[in-house]
Amino acid sequence: MQVFSKSLDINTSKRVEMVDITEDVEKILKTVSLSHGIINIFSRHSTSAIIINEHETNLLQDLEDTLEALVPENEGYGHNTIDNNADAHVRAILLGSSQSLPFENVKLDLGTWQSLFFVELDGPRARKIKITIMGD
Ligand code: ZN
Repeated sequence: MQVFSKSLDINTSKRVEMVDITEDVEKILKTVSLSHGIINIFSRHSTSAIIINEHETNLLQDLEDTLEALVPENEGYGHNTIDNNADAHVRAILLGSSQSLPFENVKLDLGTWQSLFFVELDGPRARKIKITIMGD
């Protein structure tokens, strides 16, 4: 087994944005000499998330609307006295900061309707995510 550490830079353009990173991650996977194993995609930021779901425009808007309904942007949060982005932290906690998935034959083993997304929750910003690839 071998382990590789890579990173992916993402520049977001909106406060809340779902960025499909499936192709970027597959490109990175092709740069290492492994055919099968596990890949972990980890966001090193407390106001963003990594999710796997369907890339369908209405669904992505539904997710954004649901986040606003569950965790409204302006709700008098305690953390807002420090830097005014408590909703982004709480949304990030609900969605999670990483995903791990298998890869086979140098391809992510995603289902037909699954894509990998970086979720910006307090943009626009320059972000860096960490990708760890383990396998043979
Ligand atoms: Zn904060």
